[in-house]
Amino acid sequence: MLDVEKIRADFPILSREVNGKPLVYLDNGASAQKPSVVIDAVTRGYAEEYANVHRGLHYLSNLATDKYEAVRGKVAQFLNAAHEDHIVFNTGTTMGINMIAYSWAMPRMQAGDEIVLSVMEHHANIVPWHFLRERLGVVLKWVETDATGALDPQKVIDAIGPKTKLVAITQVSNVLGTKVDVKTITSAAHEKDVPVLVDGSQAAVHMPVDVQDIGCDFYAITGHKLYGPSGSGAIYIKPERMAEMRPFLGGGDMINEVGRDVITYNTPPMKFEAGTPGIVQTIGLGAALDYLMDIGMDKIAAHEDALCAYASERLTGLNWLNVQGHAPGKAAIFSMTMSGGAHPHDISTILDKRGIAVRAGHHCAQPLMAHMGVSATARASFAMYNTKDEVDALVDGLELCNKLLG
Ligand code: PMP
Repeated sequence: MLDVEKIRADFPILSREVNGKPLVYLDNGASAQKPSVVIDAVTRGYAEEYANVHRGLHYLSNLATDKYEAVRGKVAQFLNAAHEDHIVFNTGTTMGINMIAYSWAMPRMQAGDEIVLSVMEHHANIVPWHFLRERLGVVLKWVETDATGALDPQKVIDAIGPKTKLVAITQVSNVLGTKVDVKTITSAAHEKDVPVLVDGSQAAVHMPVDVQDIGCDFYAITGHKLYGPSGSGAIYIKPERMAEMRPFLGGGDMINEVGRDVITYNTPPMKFEAGTPGIVQTIGLGAALDYLMDIGMDKIAAHEDALCAYASERLTGLNWLNVQGHAPGKAAIFSMTMSGGAHPHDISTILDKRGIAVRAGHHCAQPLMAHMGVSATARASFAMYNTKDEVDALVDGLELCNKLLG
């Protein structure tokens, strides 16, 4: 079992007060707090071990390069990729998916080709495909969730036609917490020779991920949700797909030789990492992944599942509260509206007065908001350091909201 109090002690910010109340941080879907090991790794990275990476011939550059490159193996281990060379560093999922759109999809798609998406994608897994729609005439095919917020994998599979060139799908919805059976989707898509990109931004935080078991072609993660620094991230890319990719960003580090009329590129994955990277951010991500792997993602998942069950029970007991999404086995992410029509921003503001941090808005998922018939929700998203007491604090806060706004 997870020792939550011990974990909480690792996160300095969790002992602070906000508006005179103990912080109840339930905005983890937007970004997670950082444990001391990450903060220390970042501090040490700048205070004692900083220099630019790669090709340096001095001590500090070699040290920073070793620390930075070691993280590739940690990401591979965390995602169970077969080799660290299947990992490309970036600044997060947005960058990762945009890179795939430009490097892999754009050169191989044409007007009329289709990309299959679910209606609950985050804008980071929509907008890059809109670029291809606008620029190439690619068609976006949307698959809808059912009334519980579940996504039937068969509906995704049925949407794959002869013109489908890619399925791009999230493993966990950042709004509903719905988990998607990306393994079933991937094996059916592969039978039709269609590659699959999985947006793992939310999933990798809440459950063990095994990209070889899923079989997907691309799996994007973002460091700041994984208790690591903002500006860190990575994408797993199957070697066959990496071989098909053209570099998207050009500059230092991704080249082998540059002449006036010729250029040769570095070998992958560095072929896709142009310019000075987020050196210390990536080292901090490595510390976060070590921390998570030490605890064990299965233990984290079990704790969050119990928290999710408790929060579901308490929140559904409030008959003036609409919780969007009840898909079985969902992750602990709750999007809420109030029957009286109170604005989610007002809910968030009242909760904030009690030290409770939630997010209000469209959560970068406007097609899903339209599908649900709402313009915004208040979202409480839980992490490994949250407790049942914090669920109770949320419920008390929502009761006050109902009294004031209902
Ligand atoms: N996809 C999902 C499901 C997300 O929740 C987020 C972050 N809210 C992203 C993509 C984008 O991640 P980032 O902004 O870190 O690139």
